[in-house]
Amino acid sequence: MAVAVARPCNIEMNMDKAKLRENSGTPPPKLGRMQRLKRRLSQSFNRFVPKDNESTRRQGVEPNGASSPRKGNYRQLESSTSPETVTPSGVDAAKAKRLRNRRHSEAVLPNIVTTVAASLPGGRSSPSYMPRRRMSMSPDSPFGKLEAYQRLEMLGEGSYATVYRGVSNISNQIVALKEIRLNEEEGTPFTAIREASLLKGLRHANIVILHDIIHTKNNLTFVFEYVDTDLSKYMEHHLGGIHPHNVKLFLFQLIRGLAYCHARRILHRDLKPQNLLINQNGELKLADFGLARAKSVPSHTFSNEVVTLWYRPPDVLLGSTDYSTSLDMWGVGCIFAEMISGMPLFPGMKDTVDQLTKIWQLLGTPTEETWSGVSKLPEFQKYEFYQYTPSPLKTYVPQLIGSAGGVELLTELLQLLPRKRISAADAMKHKYFKGLGPEVLTLPPERSIFSIPSIQLRDGKKSLTPTPSSVTNGTSAI
Ligand code: ADP
Ligand code: MG
Repeated sequence: MAVAVARPCNIEMNMDKAKLRENSGTPPPKLGRMQRLKRRLSQSFNRFVPKDNESTRRQGVEPNGASSPRKGNYRQLESSTSPETVTPSGVDAAKAKRLRNRRHSEAVLPNIVTTVAASLPGGRSSPSYMPRRRMSMSPDSPFGKLEAYQRLEMLGEGSYATVYRGVSNISNQIVALKEIRLNEEEGTPFTAIREASLLKGLRHANIVILHDIIHTKNNLTFVFEYVDTDLSKYMEHHLGGIHPHNVKLFLFQLIRGLAYCHARRILHRDLKPQNLLINQNGELKLADFGLARAKSVPSHTFSNEVVTLWYRPPDVLLGSTDYSTSLDMWGVGCIFAEMISGMPLFPGMKDTVDQLTKIWQLLGTPTEETWSGVSKLPEFQKYEFYQYTPSPLKTYVPQLIGSAGGVELLTELLQLLPRKRISAADAMKHKYFKGLGPEVLTLPPERSIFSIPSIQLRDGKKSLTPTPSSVTNGTSAI
């Protein structure tokens, strides 16, 4: 039985300076717009940090996924913990932090686990199902148990988990089992807690559905709806680029899923083809919310592979932390170009400088005149970049020249200045998507665009046959 390798948790707890100040009683200074946004994001993550067992039951478990943010949760968590969690002098601070993390995840997870399972009778998403709470407390519930699923072959290995195909013994449905090996000392990785807590509140046709969570001593397994392939594998079958009509459908769905997240102040932060799932019908679903709301983007995965920089915007590469939804929109631009041309747009091979150079070669090296404030960004000060002049984008994506608005939309997505990048909400209304008809803009979140009869994938299905990356012998109960 293949198992994921134990990986250390390298993501820091999300606690910004403003929060620290608030907790120490110092009056907060006047904050800029972006700082306020960052602070709100941080607070909205804090809502999953319980004050104590009692508040664990009360907080963050409302049927609609909404919960009231509570001020000072971190302080309460710190002060309500036993002396072993407070760093005494002479005690290894890292060890104390690990203990704190473990206690935190032990307190938070059961709450999330029961909520997710309770919302999904028979392993099917049912937003109208009620009451969640009663089912979540029932010891007879088949959810959250190992024996409810059988594990089949491996589908993929990502930055912090191994994903298998599986079968639900409850509903006989095929599911995807994302297995995260837990480390005794570290407790549950924060990436996993974030992913679970975020996904339980998101119900959208273009966001992967989380059915259930199984928490055992050594493993945390997320049970997702099974989706046939991901965009990276799909593109391997379309080496010269995806059919322009299908690119438009995939891109619209990607932007639609993001607009839903951004309206809820959730950034994905790790957009790349591997994290976009595509099913037989051509429905695209955002997956892997492990980094959403993380404070910093890690440079290495848990298995110590280098995290790809190809989809990272120049402002973040230059060391800016003042980012917002524009971070995701840059990734959308890169993925758009890659889908249409079949080639990654900025395939940096080495490091941040190499990645930035690839961007400057196409879009021109920024100056204070074109990007006010750029020279103050940490990484810009460190290096002397060659002064490239911008090239016309259409030479890189000639496939888009015939489509009305295609090059314009790509240009609006790939703006060096974050504040100039088009938002997801505006991009949905861009003239490039006009041919899809007005109905796509008024669909309820859980309705797929393919519920509109005129919207159909072109010659896409035949290449959507799943190609598991490895096949294990037989099945094994997880
Ligand atoms: P990680 O956080 O470790 O990167 P992901 O959630 O991105 O994990 O999953 C890793 C890979 O597993 C994906 O790139 C995809 O190929 C596959 N995968 C993930 N979720 C599903 C799913 N629901 N259905 C089918 N395959 C999936
Ligand atoms: Mg991934």
